Amino acid sequence: MRSIIVAGNWKMNMDPQSGARLAAGILKGLEKKPAGCVVILFPPSVTIPAVVETVEGSQIGVGGQNLYFEESGAFTGEISAGMLKGAGCGYVLVGHSERRHIFGEDSELLARKLRAALDSGLAPVLCVGELLDQRESGDAEKVVRDQLGGVLEGIDDRELTRVMIAYEPVWAIGTGKTATPEDAASMHAVIREWISSSFGDDAAEEMTIMYGGSVKPHNAATLLSEQEIDGALVGGASLEAASFLDIIRSV
Ligand code: PEP
Repeated sequence: MRSIIVAGNWKMNMDPQSGARLAAGILKGLEKKPAGCVVILFPPSVTIPAVVETVEGSQIGVGGQNLYFEESGAFTGEISAGMLKGAGCGYVLVGHSERRHIFGEDSELLARKLRAALDSGLAPVLCVGELLDQRESGDAEKVVRDQLGGVLEGIDDRELTRVMIAYEPVWAIGTGKTATPEDAASMHAVIREWISSSFGDDAAEEMTIMYGGSVKPHNAATLLSEQEIDGALVGGASLEAASFLDIIRSV
């Protein structure tokens, strides 16, 4: 049985005070109604300690939105896997499309980040997804397979059990456009097939693959009812406790 994950990517929103308030609101809502799924919050780095303190002792996990692959040193502005771990994180996003397309992160860099996350004991969420023109030209599946191969090469079977994947078509992120449940499920099947051919059937069967891209309370239930979709990575709708809780309750 694969875990169902509902994760909130707060992006560059929420200072420590407002982040702690939001986390407290989510926690309160979950107390009233057990989630039946794993909930993970990805606050900005400076807000992580406040969120970790707020959710301490609960089932809510906390992760970083980004990391650098070196452990320490002269890398101004960067944050290491060990630092995230020390701050109380159990997870980290690797290769979010905003990192790939705004900050120019390529597969070679992302592979090193994923390696650093695994070596430090974090569970990485590897984000993959195609641009609109790549979908329109029929290249979406190839793009996603190349992204998987470019980052997961060199990972062994045991390490793979700690990796989760988020399929996030770039054209659906923050745009209000959502992939149809069928389109999302079909790409999830492509991803699972790739995992199967590279790591075997059992690894593919166990891999958690979340969908991300304008998941909202009104569309979450339909997306999550697809057998191939093991959860949601939520951006905008995770910034308010009520809408994030509605998505969790639709699992
Ligand atoms: C995201 O940030 O990963 C995301 C999917 O954002 P949104 O839900 O706002 O599209």
